[in-house]
Amino acid sequence: MQDATAGTTAGPGTPHERRWKAPNFRLDGRVGLVTGAGSGIGRAIALALGASGASVGCLDLAGADLAGSVADIEAVGGRAVAVTADATDPAAVAAAIGSVEQDLGPISLAVNAAGIANAAPAENMPLSQWQKVIDVDLTGVFVSCQAEGQAMLRNGGGAIVNIASMSATIANRGLTQAHYNAAKAGVVQLGRSLAWEWADRGVRVNSISPGYTYTPMTRRPEQAEAMEGYAGDTPLGRNAQPEDIAGPAIFLLSDAADYITGVDLLVDGGFTIW
Ligand code: NAP
Repeated sequence: MQDATAGTTAGPGTPHERRWKAPNFRLDGRVGLVTGAGSGIGRAIALALGASGASVGCLDLAGADLAGSVADIEAVGGRAVAVTADATDPAAVAAAIGSVEQDLGPISLAVNAAGIANAAPAENMPLSQWQKVIDVDLTGVFVSCQAEGQAMLRNGGGAIVNIASMSATIANRGLTQAHYNAAKAGVVQLGRSLAWEWADRGVRVNSISPGYTYTPMTRRPEQAEAMEGYAGDTPLGRNAQPEDIAGPAIFLLSDAADYITGVDLLVDGGFTIW
């Protein structure tokens, strides 16, 4: 059989059959876990999962507005449950996944959006501040991926999207956050590493690197005032809303992306091309 693009012998189906199949972005019948689902980008992605047909386990720290996230998903006809856990605690994350699986079924989708940010000049940054950001933003993503990966390998496959940052690729002008930038670069490389380890067992792992996005994280004092300046430095002329990150996440989780693993997708309005 002729391959539709290269003209070589290739997989099943005629070129015509392979061309007409519409890409499937739906997630009906699947169960996903979203960390950091009580706020900002995680909350928008959890809602998009629910609106795309998945049942959603919404994970965040105790005190987060998980009830609001669950209510939003139910309002669009989706199914969701709230689970509280610290994403850096392996036992708590494993227990949260167990609880989601008991309520909703075996998980095959996950988005790791839990994170923190702060700033201090590198020459004076206390080690405890460095370690806390590395712990949540890098180790927490590993802990989450490990537990999600174990579940997906057991369940026959799945897809994971880690929320990194364009700070994995650039050093943000004016923001003294060496710890955050290093953690995010680690998240991208973690994704590539897990992608190959799990590729032959049906688990895809990718990351998304958002640009500046309006969430509680960017309302902290050292960023809030600078946000409008960033918009002017962005080819598309504006900063992101959390919903701008949700579509790319759904794409990477869906069967439309079933040949994509180990990539980092910059969703930054073009910020990093200038
Ligand atoms: P956000 O609104 O502050 O949401 C992050 C959520 O994660 C919060 O609910 C936070 O709880 C929770 N969280 C923090 N530590 C946790 C832990 N150990 N275990 C479980 N949950 C924890 O911030 P966001 O802007 O949506 O950020 C989401 C992700 O996108 C982060 O990884 C961030 O680094 C990344 N990102 C954001 C931007 C941006 O411009 N906003 C750009 C690039 C990448 P608390 O509120 O209690 O801390």
